[in-house]
Amino acid sequence: MKKEKKKKSTKHLFLICFLLIVVSACSNDDSSSSDTVDDSSSDTVDDDSVDNDNGSVTTDGLHAAFAEFDTDETDIYLDGDNVVIETTGYPNHTSYYWGEDHELYLDEDIGANATPSTIPGRDASATLTVSANPELATSSTSTQLGTIGISVSGAAIFNDQEGNGALTDGVAKGLDYSGGHIGPSVYHYHLEPKAFTDDDENLVGILADGFFIYGRKCNSTGTYPTDLDDSGGHTHTTQHSDTEEYHYHIINELYLDQYYIIFAGDYKGNPGNIN
Ligand SMILES: [Zn+2]
Ligand SMILES: [Zn+2]
Repeated sequence: MKKEKKKKSTKHLFLICFLLIVVSACSNDDSSSSDTVDDSSSDTVDDDSVDNDNGSVTTDGLHAAFAEFDTDETDIYLDGDNVVIETTGYPNHTSYYWGEDHELYLDEDIGANATPSTIPGRDASATLTVSANPELATSSTSTQLGTIGISVSGAAIFNDQEGNGALTDGVAKGLDYSGGHIGPSVYHYHLEPKAFTDDDENLVGILADGFFIYGRKCNSTGTYPTDLDDSGGHTHTTQHSDTEEYHYHIINELYLDQYYIIFAGDYKGNPGNIN
């Protein structure tokens, strides 16, 4: 009898041990899986802190904003105190102006007002050389006809002039959905380039004085800035800079009651070279 009891209790002990092992194994699984979650979430935090550590400069010494430029269309690098932005000049998005035979062609109802040229086959390349640390100049400089900046898509930014006059409604009606067309030269934007910024804080590109230009909203407040100068500029933080720096915005004011001009002001910095 006694022996049997002992046997039974030993059996019970084994069973309890077995259950404990199973339970602890399960709980180990639980903790390891929650460890994984913890790890991944802390990894994300780590990634963020890496970004913060970098501040507004990427590992190659360039301003963090340059990471948004299309690497297929642009080649951006430091040359001493300057930054060089080389571009094919071709927009990396669909447009009527690619022409019917191109895969990026977009059929838009602008035919009567469209300019006759198409993008393929043209040499639209350009090189902008500007200070890597642009500063506000003592006096502003008016922009010129032709390229006044390079956008993140690779295509040129023009001002509010077409030929020898301000952009007319007729010309504007011939612009593609992204505010671009081809004049006598290269494909270029006059209006808010909706292919990559549409009533938001997205980066538009860089102007020839080395200052970046953003969409109609500012990351520092999440809404339309109210403290812009007559060129659409102000000094604030952005999504690409933890420290306050001068930058432009597309001004949130309608032109001809229906368009948003990219840039109609003067350069507030010293313009570099565009070739
Ligand atoms: Zn034009
Ligand atoms: Zn801003």
